Amino acid sequence: MIKPVYGYGNMVLRKKAQDIGADYENLPALIESMFETMEASDGVGLAAPQIGLPIRVFVIDASSMVEDYPEAENFKKVFINPQIISLSGIEWSFVEGCLSVPGIREEVVRPSHVSISYVDENFIEHTETFSGIVARIIQHEYDHLEGKLFVDHLNPLKKRLLRKRLSLIENGTVPVSYKMRFKK
Ligand code: ZN
Repeated sequence: MIKPVYGYGNMVLRKKAQDIGADYENLPALIESMFETMEASDGVGLAAPQIGLPIRVFVIDASSMVEDYPEAENFKKVFINPQIISLSGIEWSFVEGCLSVPGIREEVVRPSHVSISYVDENFIEHTETFSGIVARIIQHEYDHLEGKLFVDHLNPLKKRLLRKRLSLIENGTVPVSYKMRFKK
């Protein structure tokens, strides 16, 4: 089921999300909904707080980016209860956007490698290191579980310049092509 994406200004996007157990109610249906919602809005990642749930779950499907980023090939994954173990490599800049912050795209600097432990949709534990574009998407989605958004990474001047546009999103007065839920 396609869910509305919670927009900038909703408090759930600012909460630290909590781990879930393997018995979390309707988990397979939730994961399916998250993929459907992400696909319907042409996203490459979606975190549970973006559909209003303060739990540590995110999904990624980076396969559409394979042409420019070979590491994205068939990269479709569910991360549950993730913990970043370390960030390493070079710092690189990339223009990011976010389904919760429609219409704003800005360069964000992040490390090229991330080592992360998580359980998958079958609650099997993994510890892996990712690099390139998938490492970036993982860091962006992981930030959502920590109550952080990509605009928080921008310098104070950039943030000041965006204030007006962010308030338009808060008020729900921006054009969006997918279903959204703005701050109540
Ligand atoms: Zn996002």
